[in-house]
Amino acid sequence: MNLKKYGYVHHIPRLMVISNLMNLSGIAPQEVYKWFMETFIDSSDWVMTPNVFGMGLFSDGGIFATKPYLCGSNYLFKPCDFHVHLREGDLAKQVLNENSKHFQKILIMPNLQVPITNSNLLNKYRNHLLKNKKNLEILFTIYLNQNCSIKELSEMKKKKLFFSVKLYPQNATTNSSSGVSDIKKMTKYFEFLEKNDVPLCIHGEHVHFNDDPFEREKKFLDLELNWIRKNFPNLKITLEHITTKDSVDFVKQHRLIGATVTTHHLLENTYTFFGNHLKPELFCKPIIKNVKHQQALQKVVLSGHKKFFFGSDSAPHLKSKKFTEFCCAGVYSTKYSISNIIEFFYRNKKQANLDGKSS
Ligand SMILES: [Zn+2]
Repeated sequence: MNLKKYGYVHHIPRLMVISNLMNLSGIAPQEVYKWFMETFIDSSDWVMTPNVFGMGLFSDGGIFATKPYLCGSNYLFKPCDFHVHLREGDLAKQVLNENSKHFQKILIMPNLQVPITNSNLLNKYRNHLLKNKKNLEILFTIYLNQNCSIKELSEMKKKKLFFSVKLYPQNATTNSSSGVSDIKKMTKYFEFLEKNDVPLCIHGEHVHFNDDPFEREKKFLDLELNWIRKNFPNLKITLEHITTKDSVDFVKQHRLIGATVTTHHLLENTYTFFGNHLKPELFCKPIIKNVKHQQALQKVVLSGHKKFFFGSDSAPHLKSKKFTEFCCAGVYSTKYSISNIIEFFYRNKKQANLDGKSS
């Protein structure tokens, strides 16, 4: 590199080659800095300090660079998760902490044991979480049902206390007994949302006594979502955690509707879920579907289609409620979602379509 002759080499061999060699050799950062200061003809402390401690060795705790030069990975923005269950109390603190390691922004769900249907409950939850969060933006949601007051919604919206509202069909999933039993009774709320540009997030399953859980999503599209789309054409909708080819087609065909996709619905199917041994950790609602549906999700996600984005639906339960004879629905995936999705895109040679998916 002619370093001895000129006392100079280009920035890249300095930081990518020499610093890396010193880093791998375990030389103390102070020693590396001293050597750089003495060796280079153009050295001055205001350049060498950030270059050596920050970019070269990544020994400044990540103030100056997003990763060590040592890592040859592509840059990937810290992603967002647009569907998360934090739960409440001490559990929420732990889950929040885990989320801040992996995500820059999360949209959190309101189906607590007492669902968040008014400003009192929202403020209590906001205070608890905002007090405990670090390095993470939280978007809040309101649990929409007939007890909600339009006046209150309007005031909370003005104060920007929430981002969207969430509609659960009654008894569709965890803590949904006070969900909506007849969407046609929700007209005044849909009008309000449409007029005020508030997004509506939907758990899209039609739940009825004796029905087939594998058919719930398709039935919801036919019986309920079609009606909402027709009657409120300017309402912004997110169809949450889609699981079927029918939903993929519906979202593609209609305007102002997007969909979140979870890691488990993308990477698992009925065979991996219970084809051999039953895996309670994969039991969730909507239930994981067969390969045909899984492939429809994979195809649209790998294509980089803008209407389909990441929402993990990560939903922790205590072990005593998950691995027991009455297994609760929910997959806790916060720790591994993003690494699994990156691997999935790489395996399919579609990494170029990855960035926009969750950030
Ligand atoms: Zn959910």
